[in-house]
Amino acid sequence: MQRKNRWRNIGTCECILQFLAPETIGEHVIPFLVEKSCPVHAEIIDVKLHFDAVYGENSLKNKFETDILKTATALRDTTIDEEGKTILSWKKGFYFKWYFDFDRKLVVDARKYPLDAKNQLQALIANSEYTGKVIIIV
Ligand SMILES: [Zn+2]
Repeated sequence: MQRKNRWRNIGTCECILQFLAPETIGEHVIPFLVEKSCPVHAEIIDVKLHFDAVYGENSLKNKFETDILKTATALRDTTIDEEGKTILSWKKGFYFKWYFDFDRKLVVDARKYPLDAKNQLQALIANSEYTGKVIIIV
């Protein structure tokens, strides 16, 4: 019997899905059960579509946070790990404050960011994969 794993998109919604190994979450996993559904995703009956919706939101959120740190230099610290890899992290005093709105658009609160960073993030969501999916509150 294959091992079962449970996955929840922490912070995004309350859905809990079960899938078979492999261990790591990703597009490759085969979900087989919606253990629990949040009200937003409850109408998606098909398990794979349900997983795709929840995982898609999680991926969008994570990718956008990474792109904020790549784009807005004022918001980040850069360190080099033991292997020589560059690690970007939030500068003290700044953080990623976000939620998904009623239309499941990612809303990012940039009100505490410097003007340069706000402008960079507005440019990032204009004419890109984020257009229509991400909203920046300035
Ligand atoms: Zn959900």
